[in-house]
Order: sequence, then C-alpha cells, then structure tokens
Amino acid sequence: MTMNRRSFITLVGAATGAGLLGFPYISRAADIMPKTGRRVVVVGGGSGGAIVAKQVRLADPSIEVVLIEAEKSFIACPLSNLVLVGMRTLDENTITLAGLQANHNIKLVYDTVTAVDPAAKKVICSAGAIAYDKLVLSPGVDFRFEEIEGYDAATTPEAMPHAWKAGPQTLLLKKRLQDMKDGGVVVLTIPQAPFRCPPGPYERISMIAHYLKQNKPKSKIIVWDGNETIVAKAPLFKKGWAKHYGYDEKDSSKGLISYNGNSRLTKVDVKAMAVDNGIEALKGDVINVIPAQRAGLIAQLAGVVGPDKKWCPVDQISFESTQVKDIYVVGDSCSAGALPKSAYSANSEAKVCALNIVQALNGKELIAPSHVNVCYSYITDKEAVTVSGIYVEKDGKTIAVPNSGGLSPDLNEAEGNYARSWMQNMLIEMST
Ligand SMILES: Cc1cc2nc3c(=O)[nH]c(=O)nc-3n(C[C@H](O)[C@H](O)[C@H](O)COP(=O)(O)OP(=O)(O)OC[C@H]3O[C@@H](n4cnc5c(N)ncnc54)[C@H](O)[C@@H]3O)c2cc1C
Repeated sequence: MTMNRRSFITLVGAATGAGLLGFPYISRAADIMPKTGRRVVVVGGGSGGAIVAKQVRLADPSIEVVLIEAEKSFIACPLSNLVLVGMRTLDENTITLAGLQANHNIKLVYDTVTAVDPAAKKVICSAGAIAYDKLVLSPGVDFRFEEIEGYDAATTPEAMPHAWKAGPQTLLLKKRLQDMKDGGVVVLTIPQAPFRCPPGPYERISMIAHYLKQNKPKSKIIVWDGNETIVAKAPLFKKGWAKHYGYDEKDSSKGLISYNGNSRLTKVDVKAMAVDNGIEALKGDVINVIPAQRAGLIAQLAGVVGPDKKWCPVDQISFESTQVKDIYVVGDSCSAGALPKSAYSANSEAKVCALNIVQALNGKELIAPSHVNVCYSYITDKEAVTVSGIYVEKDGKTIAVPNSGGLSPDLNEAEGNYARSWMQNMLIEMST
C-alpha cells in the first residue's frame, strides 16, 4: 500500500500532529471479525451511537451491528451540572451497554477506533480491522484547546476544569467549589456557539449560584460569554437569576451573578489563576473554562468534517456524510441545521439515521424525518425550565416547525421532576 493509493487511509496523528506512526501497522491490520452478511458498524456508544445500534437491530434483525465504544461505562452529561453541587451523583448518570448485547445481539467491542479506510470500508482499532457496509460515527465533541493562548491540554484542565465531558472533570470542579473560601470568586467562560448543549453553561451558572447562596454567600460568580448574549432560554434564565440570585442586568455588581456578553476568552495563565479576553485580565479562585469544540477526533480522521474543519455536514434526511459515501454522522459531531447539539437531538437523529440505513440496505426509499427536542435546565434545587421543538427537513435543510414548541411559561417544580424522569427514560433506552 502506498501513500498515493486512491483509497487513502486517515490516521490518528495526522490531525493531532503525532505523525504517521500508525501507517505500517494499519496496512497490516488483520480483520478481527470476518464479515459474512450485511453489517453496520457504529463508533461511539453514547447518546447517539447506542440508539443507532439498537434501532438498526429492531428494524431489521438480519443486519449485523457492531458497536465500538472506548469506555467500559458511559457517563451521561445531562444533569451533570447538578452533580457539581451535590444534587445528584455521577453513578446516577452512569450506564453500561451490556444490555444491548444481551437483548439485541449487538456485538460490543470495547476499543478506540483510531482510523477509517473509506475505500476498503474498514475501521481500525487497536485489536485490528473491522469491515462495514455502513459506518455510523457518533463520537461526541473534542476541544479546540489550541485557540486559547497559554492553554496546555495536558495540564490546564487540572487547574481550570472544563467539566464538559461528564466524569472525573465533573468531580474535580465540584471539589474546587467545595474547597473555595466564602468570599471567593468563581469565573466561568463560555465559548462562541455552536457548542454541545446550548443551555448547559447557563444551567451551570444557576447551579453554582445556588450552591454559593446556600454555602458561601459572600462569594460571586463572574461569567465571560463569548456570545453576544445568553444562547438559549435567555428570558427564563434572566428571570430565574433575578428571582433567586439578585441578578441585575443593568448593574452586574449586584447579586451573586455577574454576566458579561461579548467577552471571549483568549488567554489563560494557570500560575496566576487568571483569564484574559484581550481587554482585561481577571483572577478567580475557581476557574471553569469551557473551551470551543469540534467534532470528535475520529470524525476528523475519517475525512467527514466540512470546510470549516469543525463539524460534519450530512444529508438532512439520512445523516449520510456529504463528504464520504457510506459513512453517517449523528449527535454533536454533525451539522443538523436548527437541531441543537443535545442528547435528545442525538437520540432523534439516531432513530432517523438507523431507519434510513435499513431502508437503504433493503433497497427502499428514504423516509423524511420529523425530530423532537426537549431540553430541561435547573435554576435552583427544585425549579427548572424547558425549551422544546419539532424539526423537519425542508429543501435540504433541517428547520424548526414554526410555533411547534417554545419555552416553558415560567420556572416551576414540575419541570424539575420531568427532567429527572426524562433522563431516567433516556438512560434505560440506551442500555436495554
Ligand atoms: C454539562 C452538560 C449538560 C448537558 N445537559 C443536557 C441536557 O439536559 N439535555 C440534553 O439533551 N443534552 C444535554 N447535554 C448534551 C449531551 O450530553 C450531548 O449532546 C450528547 O451526549 C451528544 O451525544 P453524542 O452521541 O454525539 O456524544 P456522546 O454522548 O458524548 O457519546 C460519544 C461516545 O463516543 C465514544 N467515542 C468517541 N470517540 C471514539 C472512538 N474513536 N472510538 C470508540 N469510541 C469513541 C465516547 O467514549 C463516548 O462514549 C449536556 C452536555 C453537557 C456538557
């Protein structure tokens, strides 16, 4: 195999600067699961991937499904902001995929996919190669650390946790908040949209403010938002912050929350525990930097990201990549028009994608999608707010159906209960 072979192989390292280490190894990678019939391979067993795998099997049990996931257990992000302040445990957010194997005969492989050969229709993991007829990528997001001056991917998250992938980072940020003295300053920075979970940073602000009000009332949270204003549910967050945390839009010195739009983080100084936005530097006792994001690394390596080098353009009916045939992308990594990057969207995209893969493999016409998204955000330990919507494909674009959803009329406790119940349903659906 030579480098100019038409069926180029994209490699781990090519995008990260680690070089072409894997090339001779990949060229010799043996098939670890010889393919006998039709096979769909899914990479990533999170909110999108687990559902694609299950739905393909439900729709047509004659199609073999191989699900490749890097981690033995999946820790979901929704409601992880509650974990930061002791309202929920990470265990409550954790599932395994064993039930998918037991109940649906999905072949589970715990490994990291390090390369894709689209011409040979194979993925490469550390144990060897696995062939596919259709490949689905749902790898979530990676971070654009390199856009922040002074940010070291290996060490900065320890000092300034992002907690934007639930797990050890969540517990680290929780500990930083617990260890902070009363009267301390929490700094939280938000990247420019699009990013995973548009209302997520604002729910986090609410949860931290709730924690400070209860435990460290002389403290403050200062927010630098790279966007002009609050990206999602703005009227409800402002209302909730004013009601519970003394927020004053016109005077940020009042109350627990100082919110500043149009304030994009450009630089961090870990030693000084300071952030910079090009105009001023700001010190914090706890600093939560949420970096800008892009499609998960394997999507970059598979060659399915678009010209923006960030997200993966897909056909809005099938979720097949517009860049590479027979590779599909769902979840945070794909560009799905008006659908936000949420677990609920990933779930909806996964069902549409699975159905249309089965249609395609059976030589049938594709089915136009109708998606749903609901997203809950806690404002206090009890009250929550919601945004919901219905989305359809129109002229090749995914659009929100006018007047199909909207914001909950107010903050209320029922929404909080719905949120926990929604989460429970989602985790059960993914794991059984
Ligand atoms: C703080 C926070 C709060 C949130 N709250 C909500 C909410 O209330 N509601 C909501 O709907 N959404 C919420 N989200 C967003 C939601 O978590 C994501 O949109 C969703 O998880 C996206 O699903 P996905 O399948 O794209 O990625 P993920 O769910 O992240 O799954 C990706 C999986 O792929 C695996 N993987 C990646 N690369 C490889 C590889 N090369 N080989 C093998 N495996 C690989 C990973 O290990 C992971 O398990 C929140 C997010 C955050 C950060």
